[in-house]
This record gives sequence, structure tokens and C-alpha cells, in this order.
Amino acid sequence: MPKFQDFPLLALRGRVVFPNTTLSFDVGRVISLTAVKYATDNGSRLFVCAQKQSEKDDITDEDIYTAGTVVKLRQITRLPGNNLRLTVEGIFRATARQVRKENGTFIATVEEIVPVRGDPALEEAYFRTSKEILKDITSTDGKLSKEATAALDKCSDPEEFANLAAHHLQIKTAQKQELLECVRTVDRLKQVDKLLNDELEIMRLERKINAAVRQNIDKNQKEYFLREQLKAIHSELGDDGEELDELEEKIKAKGMPDEAREKALKELSRMSRMQTSSPDYNVLRVYLDWMLDLPWHEQTNDTEKLADAVKVLEEEHYGLEKIKERITEYLAVLKRTGGMNAPILCFVGPPGVGKTSIASSVARALGRKFVRMSLGGVKDEAEIRGHRKTYVGSMPGRIINGMKKAGSINPVFLLDEIDKISSDLRGDPADALLEVLDPAQNATFLDRYLEVAYDLSKVLFITTANSLETIPAPLLDRMEIIELTGYTPEEKAEIAKRYLIPKKRESNGLKAGEIAISDRAVDAIIDGYTMEAGVRSLERRIDAVCRKAAVKLADGEIKKVSVTERNLQDYLGAKRYERDGGALKNDEVGAATGLAWTSVGGTTLTIEVSAMHGKGDIMLTGKLGDVMKESARAAISYIRSNSATYGIDSSVFEKTDIHIHVPEGATPKDGPSAGITMATAILSAFTKKSVKKSIAMTGEITLRGKVLPIGGLKEKALAAYRTGIRDVIIPADNKKDLEEVPKSVRESINFIAVSDVDAVFRNAINGI
Ligand code: ADP
Repeated sequence: MPKFQDFPLLALRGRVVFPNTTLSFDVGRVISLTAVKYATDNGSRLFVCAQKQSEKDDITDEDIYTAGTVVKLRQITRLPGNNLRLTVEGIFRATARQVRKENGTFIATVEEIVPVRGDPALEEAYFRTSKEILKDITSTDGKLSKEATAALDKCSDPEEFANLAAHHLQIKTAQKQELLECVRTVDRLKQVDKLLNDELEIMRLERKINAAVRQNIDKNQKEYFLREQLKAIHSELGDDGEELDELEEKIKAKGMPDEAREKALKELSRMSRMQTSSPDYNVLRVYLDWMLDLPWHEQTNDTEKLADAVKVLEEEHYGLEKIKERITEYLAVLKRTGGMNAPILCFVGPPGVGKTSIASSVARALGRKFVRMSLGGVKDEAEIRGHRKTYVGSMPGRIINGMKKAGSINPVFLLDEIDKISSDLRGDPADALLEVLDPAQNATFLDRYLEVAYDLSKVLFITTANSLETIPAPLLDRMEIIELTGYTPEEKAEIAKRYLIPKKRESNGLKAGEIAISDRAVDAIIDGYTMEAGVRSLERRIDAVCRKAAVKLADGEIKKVSVTERNLQDYLGAKRYERDGGALKNDEVGAATGLAWTSVGGTTLTIEVSAMHGKGDIMLTGKLGDVMKESARAAISYIRSNSATYGIDSSVFEKTDIHIHVPEGATPKDGPSAGITMATAILSAFTKKSVKKSIAMTGEITLRGKVLPIGGLKEKALAAYRTGIRDVIIPADNKKDLEEVPKSVRESINFIAVSDVDAVFRNAINGI
């Protein structure tokens, strides 16, 4: 083959033809059509090369690259508008050495570009890596067509591979041109390698971007589809979202504070994305029911006139003058301040004295709703503050529960038995209660279940307790204590006649004319069937009487029943308590009756002592607190040091063991007050002289035999009175407290005020 050959030149816009490849393109310029004509007349070969600037129409030999490809015309198709579609096949690369214009076209004198082969190992290495990359490209599903990758894969000649790759790769014309001009095979392979690598990288990036975009679209689409599906499911099941719409309306109309409403709507939207049968759906449903059932702004109006409020209090409770007076003051202040910073009332007293019922009267007096919550045995903070709704079956705490029951945001809320809360590992309920009762915090009380703040600031809290001892100090600090003491039998009788009997008659469905309980029968019930500070058992006994009466009246044969002292046994069975003038059956040696003040009111307390042969040990059993034990030791020491006065041989103490026992179960609130009772029983045991059964006593003893004052005199006096004791020894310093003791009790009990224990012995022990 001659070194130089002439071919008509065809300038291509933006395309480069490589040997061993076929390319189709359209031509329309006159100069191009002339070249094609020339070629078809002279062996169908053309020299094609790219224009440096593809948009240029009129070109000179300066405007084209010198390197191009000699091609064979494979097909010519005429197109409308004097255009031709050519299909050409590249034969070899060539450089135009000279270009001349001849008969309206360019004729190029070209020289073949012969590849320069180098180190075969290096060539092979590039060749192989290129093929590897190609595999990745194929698997990445990129822009290289399947045919292209297949052809490349099949190709075993490095030169041919470079041509094919350059043909198929989507690269710039300049890059293609560079590949075309490159003479050394290894350089061409190197370039192909790099281009393939770039291609792979671009493909990966594209994929990544595509995935990200798709993900975004997918998410929106998915949600849309799911919602549509859910709608379809709902309508298939017959519940076409009406429930949710209804809930939404209710939430919006409920008048919740912003935070609560937003929370409710958020949960509703979560719910709308769930299937109605899913457990979570139900959890949210229950939650929303709570939110909707709770009062958020509903409020009752307080009774206008204070006088009307006071009337309610008067009507519903007998006696309790001081307490009613205090409550009246409280209500008056409450009306003025609107409840801001009002102290929390705490009613303290034995069971059944009317603490709960007076609290509910306060609610009625004010015209407010009343809710009661017992704190007895509450150990877990969650009972006050609720469980998170993530727990199965969780619920709001008792406070929120109470508010739901109340149905208004300003009820009277009774926290019963506040002295009975205890704490364990699960948190201290007292802390939660503090938050509830603290005006600085309770406007935003946070129940764990609700998860939104609830306003308790308009609630009027009242608490009750049997004893102040076990109330945590910070709670006690917040409260104003109002003490209710036990009732005398006379007061109980009045309460029974005016309140309990009518109440029980009614609750058992009896008419006023159908039952009569005589005054003496009432006294007999109090005396023989109850032993309490309050009137709870009395209420129960009256209830029992009314029930029996209802049975008797059931047949209609009898029109009226009369309950008298004589026939009382028919209704209540045998008497339970005998008042035979003392806690002891007879005058006894080594036993004495004390009076104790306990959380359930006053009670009698029999102390037993036995002195037996031994080594001078002291044994203490029964319910004895540490304070009582110390009193016992003080009493023994006093008697030992004054043994001569009472005719006891002082050596006896070393040979005698003393056993002191307190059989009554009740734990006294004031331990040391049993001091003189123990001393009396001990002296009686040593002297073998009996203690009078009709006497009871209370007083603390010192080592030198002084009698110190005690607390709870009124309760103790009432207890002595209930038991039928007529003589009561009290410390001289307590004489002033006798004023508090009801007149009827004062009139029937002989109070003996003493300042030293010797006087106790002389009054209580026969023959001293
Ligand atoms: P507490 O809460 O102190 O244990 P409650 O309030 O339950 O006592 O009272 C027990 C019963 O006795 C109630 O039916 C109550 O109405 C009645 N009661 C107690 N004190 C009086 C009183 N002073 N007047 C009228 N009823 C009373």
C-alpha cells in the first residue's frame, strides 16, 4: 500500500469515526454531498475527520483536525431536503498531510497512522484492567449498551479494543480525537482505562443521586399509597374514617389548652395511620377518650351567699361548733381571694367522727363537685402520677382519675387518709402529692399518662388523717390542721336520732311512720353494741336494725315496727359490751387500767405485772414502744428506792424477775403516759395488794416520782366514760384541759388530779 493516498474529505460535526466501527450520520452541506459523490465514483472511500468547531458551516482546511479515519461507504439513503444518510465503516486511522480544494470539495492526501506497539506486558496489564472495569460497568447497568459491552468483552486485540471503547464511550469529541490521534498502543490503552474508570465513577454517582431522589419520592408515594389503602380498608370494613373525623371535631370543640389540643391532634394523626384492629390504635383511642372526658375549662359557680353555704354545713352536721366556725371563716376568705393561696385543710381525728362527710358538706356548701380519693396503702408514686401509656393497660394516676369523675376543674377534692401513704422503691407518693398540693406547681401538674400539663390550681383540696405522726413533714407544712375529737354518748345519740336513723331508714326504703326506734333503744345500741370514738359502728348497727325491720314489714301483716330497749336483742343479737364499772372484772393484784390516746381515739389499756422468783431481770412484752420501756424502768427504780415507804424488803428486788405485759393491741400516741399505770401495777405485784377495778389513770412518771402532764385528755376521758369507769387519775398540770371535756362526762367522772406518784398509789391500791 502506498504511503500517501488521496481521499475526498468529509468534515463531521462533533463525531469521530474509529476503525472497526460502523457509524451513521446525515450530511447536507454541498461540500459534503460533493465529497460523497466523488467517493461513490472513486471506490467508495472517504477520509472523515471532525471539525474543531462543530457549529461552523463554511470551513477551510484550518477548521478540521488533521487526524481522521479512512472509511468505506456502506449505505447511502436519500433523505427529504437533499440530505443523505450515510452509514460508514472505519478502516484505518490516518493523518492528512495535505488538503486541497478540487471540483467543489476537499481532497486530502493522507498517511496511515500505524500503531506503535510497546512492552506487551504493560499493554496486557492495561488491557486486562480495562476489561475488569468493563465488567463492573456492565453489572452497574450504566449507559454503555449491552451490545457495546458484549463486543468489548469479546475483543482480544488491544488496538481494536481501544477503537471500540472510544467509539462507544460517551465522551467529548476532543477526547475522542485525542484517542484517535494517539500513536502508542499503551498510551491509548491507558487513556481508555482512565475513561472507563471515569465512566464507572460517574455511573456510581448517578446511581446514588438517583437512589436519593427515588427514596424521597418513594417515601411520599408510599405514604400516599398507604393512606389510600387504609381508606379502602376502612371503607371495606364499613368504618370509613367517620370515627376519626368525629374525634377530630370533638378535640377541636373541647376547649383544651393549646398544648393539650396539639398533643391530642398529633396522636389522632398517628391513629389515622394505623389499622383499627391494631393494639396501638386502641391504646391511642383510649388515650383520646381520656383527653376528651377530662374537664379542661368546665367550671361550676360557687354559692353566691356565704349564709347559704353556712346553712348547708349547719344542716348536715350535729355539734362540731368550732369546726363549722373555722370552715365558715375559711369559706369567707376563699370567696374574697378566689382560692389563691388558700391553705389546705386537714381534718384529723379518729374514724367515724365525720371528717369525710364534713368535707363533702363543704363541697355542697360551695356548690362544687366532690371527689374522694383514698390514699390508704398507696406506695407507688405512679398511683398518683400515672403510668406512661407505653405500658400495656396503663392509666392516668388517681388525681387525673378524680378530675375526670369530678367533671369540673374546681371540685372539692378529698385526699383521704393522707397519714397512710408509704413509700417504697418505686418512688415516694408524698413527693407527687407535694406537687399536687403546691400552688406554685399544681397549675402545670404533669401526669405521666397524659404527657401534657393539667391545671389543678382551681381545685380545693382537703385532706384527712387519723393521726399527724405519720404525715411526712413537708406535707404537714402545707396544711392547716383542724382536729375532730370523739363524741360523747349523748352526742352520738343526737347524731343517731337526727341524721343516722333518717338516713338509714331512707336507704332501706322505709317510710317515717313504719319504724320507731326509742331513745332508750338508741342509748342501748351506743352502750351495748359499740365501742368507738366516732359513729361508724353506730351507723352500721342502725342499718342492721332497719334491714331487719324491712324484713318484718315485707309481708304487709305488720304496718309499723317499734324498736325498744327490750326488744333490741331481736334486731342486733346479744350485747357485745358490758359497762360494769371498769376494764377489770374485779379488784386485782398486779394489774392496772391506764388510758391511752391512739389514732382511733381514746382507749383503756390494762397493764399486767407479775413478780416471780429470779435474779432481778426485767422482761417486757406486748405492744411496748421504746418510750414505754423507759417509763417501766423509771417506775421500777422509783419503787426500789422507796421500798421502805411501801413496806417492801429491799433485798427482794435482787431475787425477783419482773414481767410487764400490755395486752391491748393499740399503740398509744403518747408512750410515757402509761408511766403511773405501770408503777401502780408493779407496786401492787410486789406488795400483793389489789388495784381498784373502777379506777383508771394516765400520767408520765419521773425517777423521783413526779407525775408529768399528758396529751389527749378529752379522748381519754371519753374512753373512760365509755368503759364505765368513774374515777380517773390525771396529772395536776392537766387540770386546765378538763374544760375541753364535755360537760356530761365531767359530771359523771371523778377526776383526781395528782402531782406525785405516791398520791396515785394511795388512790388506786387498796390498803396503801
Ligand atoms: P370519718 O371520715 O371521720 O371516718 P365519716 O365522715 O365517714 O367519718 O362519718 C361516718 C358517718 O357518721 C357518716 O355517715 C357521717 O355522716 C356521720 N357523722 C359523723 N359525724 C357526724 C355529725 N357530727 N353529724 C352528723 N353525722 C355525722
